[in-house]
Amino acid sequence: MGSTALITGATGFIATHIIDLLIKDDYKVIGTVRSHDKGEQMVQLFGAENFQYSIVKSLADSKDDFKQAFVDHPEIEIVFHTASPVFITDKIKELIVDPAVQGTQNILDAIKLYGPNVHSFVFTSSTGAIITPGVEQDRDESSWNVSTWEQAKFHPLTGYMYAKTQAEHLVWKFDEQNPKIRVACVNPAYVFGPQVFDSQVKQTLNSSNEVINTLLRDGEKYVKTTASWVDVRDVAKAHIYAFTKENTKSQRLLMKEGAITEQTILDIINNKFPQLKGKIATGEPGSDISILEKRAQLNNVKTKEILGYQHVSLEQSVVDTVQQILDNNMYDFK
Ligand code: NAP
Repeated sequence: MGSTALITGATGFIATHIIDLLIKDDYKVIGTVRSHDKGEQMVQLFGAENFQYSIVKSLADSKDDFKQAFVDHPEIEIVFHTASPVFITDKIKELIVDPAVQGTQNILDAIKLYGPNVHSFVFTSSTGAIITPGVEQDRDESSWNVSTWEQAKFHPLTGYMYAKTQAEHLVWKFDEQNPKIRVACVNPAYVFGPQVFDSQVKQTLNSSNEVINTLLRDGEKYVKTTASWVDVRDVAKAHIYAFTKENTKSQRLLMKEGAITEQTILDIINNKFPQLKGKIATGEPGSDISILEKRAQLNNVKTKEILGYQHVSLEQSVVDTVQQILDNNMYDFK
């Protein structure tokens, strides 16, 4: 068995893919979960020989729980901090910002105080820490979301983006102050793609895949918002490269493959799943093109050069996501 990695938010969509890759690469994984039930479910999925869990009930109040994880597992060498609230709520400070920011500070403090063998830290940030809401200009790995709390506090999405930004700032401060620990951030756009295990396919999926799920369920309600996207398998791989490849040290890996509107996704589903004809919405095919042309660029040439691997295409990502939903009989499309 190889080195030991700790991953926070082990039950999450992205985290499960990272754990899967780590185990395939012979790492031993300690995952933080919110309850024993969730921990036991993860042990069932990954096997007790590969995966153990530690309870972290609430990120905002996680100081003692993170300490306990390191005290119980002093062998931890690599830490992935993926846990963060990713949902819509009006309690922006209490349920989004405090867990994201305080949780990040707490894991960083725990590494410093109780993680003598930790040599690498990978933070799952977001393009939300790169893009300033309401400002249409081209961005790249060097860009930062500069919105203030006064601007961010009125809307859950802007609050989430603000929270990820403040949390990522803490990570780079830690990087400066702890040169012996190798740090990298992964900043994904909307993440699509299949779950690692069919048992994770539920009526309601994690927030980003729910964009696709909603189009299957209630596509006539689609709105022409635009977003950048990337496949979960590429995001998970970037987390592994973030501590194994020399050229990722102290980098922000901006994970984005393209831009979409809900119409882009509807067009793929309607083309690739003819059996759904007449059963799901069609919208106005092709009407996304003129919208996407006007969009500011999110440029990640640098990240793609660093990583050097071919990303999963949008068509593949959407098809794999939808096929898994259909295979698990989430809808009665007879
Ligand atoms: P997810 O499936 O919702 O997973 C989030 C994880 O964090 C879950 O394990 C969840 O535990 C845990 N968590 C959330 N709030 C918590 C709290 N207050 N206390 C303790 N644990 C908490 O989300 P995901 O899509 O995999 O996202 C993972 C990371 O990627 C997040 O940091 C997110 O900001 C970032 N990200 C995601 C996307 C995307 O499109 N999915 C894009 C950019 C960045 P439970 O399962 O018990 O709720």
